[in-house]
Amino acid sequence: MARIFVPQETRPGEHRVAATPETVKKMIASGLEVEVQRGAGTVAGFSDAAYEAVGATLVTSAPAAAASADIVARVAAPSDAEAASLKEGAVLFALLDPFRNLGLVRKLAEHRVTAFAMELVPRTTRAQAMDVLSSQASVAGYKAVLLAAGRLGKHFPQMMTAAGTVQPARVVVLGAGVAGLQALATAKRLGAVVEVSDVRAAVKEQVESLGGRFIDLPEMPTAEGAGGYAKEVTREYLDKQREILTARLAHADVVISTAQVPGKKAPVLVTRAMVEAMKAGSVVVDLAASTGGNCELTRADEEVVHHGVLVLGPSNLAATVAGDASLLYARNVYNLLQLLWKNKELAVPLEDEVVAGTLLTHAGEVKAPAIAALLTDTAVRA
Ligand code: NAD
Repeated sequence: MARIFVPQETRPGEHRVAATPETVKKMIASGLEVEVQRGAGTVAGFSDAAYEAVGATLVTSAPAAAASADIVARVAAPSDAEAASLKEGAVLFALLDPFRNLGLVRKLAEHRVTAFAMELVPRTTRAQAMDVLSSQASVAGYKAVLLAAGRLGKHFPQMMTAAGTVQPARVVVLGAGVAGLQALATAKRLGAVVEVSDVRAAVKEQVESLGGRFIDLPEMPTAEGAGGYAKEVTREYLDKQREILTARLAHADVVISTAQVPGKKAPVLVTRAMVEAMKAGSVVVDLAASTGGNCELTRADEEVVHHGVLVLGPSNLAATVAGDASLLYARNVYNLLQLLWKNKELAVPLEDEVVAGTLLTHAGEVKAPAIAALLTDTAVRA
């Protein structure tokens, strides 16, 4: 018998929960014992009673439950103290943000925790059901548009009224990955005119099929890297891109920026001068805020007003749609867990490419090659 513990998240503003009554029920049916901290799902809309009704045991003390659990499922990374409270050999699932949490990675390895960084799930067809970056980016892309609509002094759709016609909002989406495409679809549903920019020319068709207009950029044949992600572009290319975008942004009412390059600082696509060329009253929602921002003026989780333009940099928008974001995240975790929990045995099949790709630390070692290399670099420089 193995026991899984689902704590209440401790990071401020983190309203999601890593398991829902739906996934807890399945875990129990597969032979796991499940402990849920009281109140863990409340803000996301999952009551203690709902967990209890599917067979979970409610616990009050997180440190005690974490210390004896074989598996701990979280959304955000644990604090150092929470990581230290895990027992040796315990399995941890969380968004560990390993590129920026090297200290925590070291600690997890030292404590011999088998830690899975949910953001490292490979972008393969087989791993789609476990892909939290996709599930959460989709939620964030949707909410970004609603956030902008709520702050814009303008309708999204065209309106024909007795007092005359008002024009639809013009939205520019930067980055046509999962979040950007969802932002495009949401803005279209609200009736806006949407333009989209991305360095990967391959997304043009997807943008057009969702009713967006693709902003053509100069040819850059190697923009697509491994797993369909973008590669970092050159400085000259960025300059050219900004020149083209300046003209588009000057007509925009809303900019939703989502451009990111895994493991790197987000590209600055909207400079201060570009914001100054925008219309007063327009709104920028920068979803790349937590990796440095696509807009030069973005400050994570703060509101900046510059020349009448509102720049928002919400770093954890998915947590503001906590119910559905949790529902999807919990399914992703459950699907990954199934690779480790077979025939009522907990094992780490290192030969499985999804397990190997997501595994951050195991048996005292840092397994993810990119993170291990970063740690060595940091140690050499220290
Ligand atoms: P992401 O969050 O890393 O980046 C968002 C977007 O920003 C990407 O489309 C990227 O091309 C773009 N971008 C990067 N630099 C830019 C720049 N300078 N200017 C404009 N745009 C820039 O990406 P993501 O949403 O996580 O996913 C990207 C792609 O990965 C998807 O579109 C898809 O092809 C692939 N993917 C595959 C799977 C799968 O197979 N399981 C799942 C999800 C995503």
